[in-house]
Amino acid sequence: MNEFDFIRQLREQTSARKTSTRIVCGIGDDAAVFRQSPDRDLLISSDLLVESVDFHGEATPPRLLGHKALAVSLSDIAAMGGRPLWSMVSIGLPQSAWASGFKEEFFAGYLALADRFGVSLTGGDLSQSQHVVIDSIVIGEVDKGRAVLRSTAQSGDQIFVTGSLGGAAAGLKLIELGARVRSPTVREGDDSQQAADGRPQEPARDASQASEPNDTADDEAIQQLLLRQLSPQPRVGWGIVLGEEQLATSMIDISDGLSSDLHHLCDESGVGAVIEAASLPLDENVVHLCGRRALDPLALALHGGEDFELLFTVSPKNLSRLPKRVDGVSISHIGEITEPSRGVRVREKSHEWDLPARGFEHFSG
Ligand code: ADP
Ligand code: MG
Repeated sequence: MNEFDFIRQLREQTSARKTSTRIVCGIGDDAAVFRQSPDRDLLISSDLLVESVDFHGEATPPRLLGHKALAVSLSDIAAMGGRPLWSMVSIGLPQSAWASGFKEEFFAGYLALADRFGVSLTGGDLSQSQHVVIDSIVIGEVDKGRAVLRSTAQSGDQIFVTGSLGGAAAGLKLIELGARVRSPTVREGDDSQQAADGRPQEPARDASQASEPNDTADDEAIQQLLLRQLSPQPRVGWGIVLGEEQLATSMIDISDGLSSDLHHLCDESGVGAVIEAASLPLDENVVHLCGRRALDPLALALHGGEDFELLFTVSPKNLSRLPKRVDGVSISHIGEITEPSRGVRVREKSHEWDLPARGFEHFSG
């Protein structure tokens, strides 16, 4: 049994019980949806980050970890087409981290991102543990009945993705090869960077020590990829636009990887899909480094996780209403929803093949 089989079982157990009619959507989507008032629905999302499993402690500046802890949950609210409002965060810390500047740095990164989206931290808990463990909760809202679910895609809908794919997984590979973020920065948007950490700079090692003549360009690409992994940018603006304008028929955020998350969306909706390989927005830094660092842009775009882009479907009748960019972030048209019998496929020119769900799993079968 893998983690998704277990979640399915848990979901059957909960839906077999008598529950409140105010639960619009329980286990199974990016966030749970509750009927809050005659005109508003509440969204709640929870995410766990465990050291050495979900992040490498020695490669992750605490300020960036604080940013990421909030970013992953903001991404889930965005994936429901919602507006984030409030948050809670619980942390387990080793004594050594407590005594160092960890907690101050963590919350500086967390609160800077919260401020950017007008989110208020309203509670949490603290405890001691052997490794750093973080439980992040974000609460958001949508107009009644407007939450964008994973389960409502229809055959003929067109498939889109925000931003670019594969960069975060490439960043993780580089970290595992020994690369370290040079100056721990939090990306304020896609085009600007802001110094955000007073920690001493760690020397770049191994993978960052390029020996080719284009050292500087490679080093810059490596740093950008490390930030894609360590400092993800949740697509909050796109989520709000797609939800409020009723543009998306279904949506999920790409946390496990495009292949796995597309399978989740297709399974929940009871549909198939065809993706055009040539239309995938490959991360330009992965393309720049490919061949020299054993990074395969297409494989990373299809199966690499943690880009926290939004994968969504649009009915043909609404295509003309789609904005080109929101908050400076563009979208790519990558395929089409099909009948379920077609399965989930990738097409490149005249070739077509099955797309297996090969993204991240904590527990495999
Ligand atoms: P995401 O990647 O969007 O955060 P997950 O893959 O973590 O989603 O979870 C998928 C669904 O399973 C979500 O609806 C989540 O709330 C639910 N889920 C995950 N773990 C548990 C758990 N321990 N108890 C109840 N529901 C869970
Ligand atoms: Mg999600």
